[in-house]
Amino acid sequence: MEQTGTRLLLIEDDRKITNFMTMALRAQNYQVTVCTTGKQGILAFCTQHPDVVILDLGLPDMDGNEIIRQIRGVSDIPILVVSARGGEADKIEALDLGANDYVTKPFSMGELLARIRVMERLVHHGAPGGQENEVLRFDTLTVDTERHLVLRDGRQIHLTPLEYRLLVLLARHPGKVLTHDFIMKEVWGYESPGDATSVRVCMASLRRKIEPDPQNPRFIRTEIGVGYRFAGL
Ligand code: CA
Repeated sequence: MEQTGTRLLLIEDDRKITNFMTMALRAQNYQVTVCTTGKQGILAFCTQHPDVVILDLGLPDMDGNEIIRQIRGVSDIPILVVSARGGEADKIEALDLGANDYVTKPFSMGELLARIRVMERLVHHGAPGGQENEVLRFDTLTVDTERHLVLRDGRQIHLTPLEYRLLVLLARHPGKVLTHDFIMKEVWGYESPGDATSVRVCMASLRRKIEPDPQNPRFIRTEIGVGYRFAGL
């Protein structure tokens, strides 16, 4: 089996869940540190330099969202939230605070492992977004931000300025769920809380242009009620 060696910090107070997850993750050669309180978790984050944080929101001593806030004050480390709070507002709050992804309990181990692999790629390739001009390649799709070109299967696709800005935003955050409000602010330049209509309309036309099968999108996935995730890594 491939040796990942990736260091995971698991902050979760439910012993059954931590035992099960630790067993499964170690079987996949992850290094796992378990903390069952928020304070322990923050201390371990500061002293052990993990690669990825897996965080439960309902902790005995503090709210997980506060941990996201504190970590984001000092680090871009990928944070995967694993929580029983499945409401859209809960997801949006955690994502807007800077969590990269959100898994609702109960979850399958297969799903969790897939999400962790996306987080790992962010660690090993570095989170995109810093550079002004770059060529982003995702399988059959190429986004060349230096020449303002989008190619699908080597052929140029013509996008409107808004579609282009939307695609670049998504492509610079692969694997991360972007909320409607965040997309609105970044692409349109203003906020329109609770109204995702413009985003939905633009997303639909972008999908028709870049997706091989717009009904079953492979690049831009919908996170229902929350936003979108660019899946093309
Ligand atoms: Ca809990």
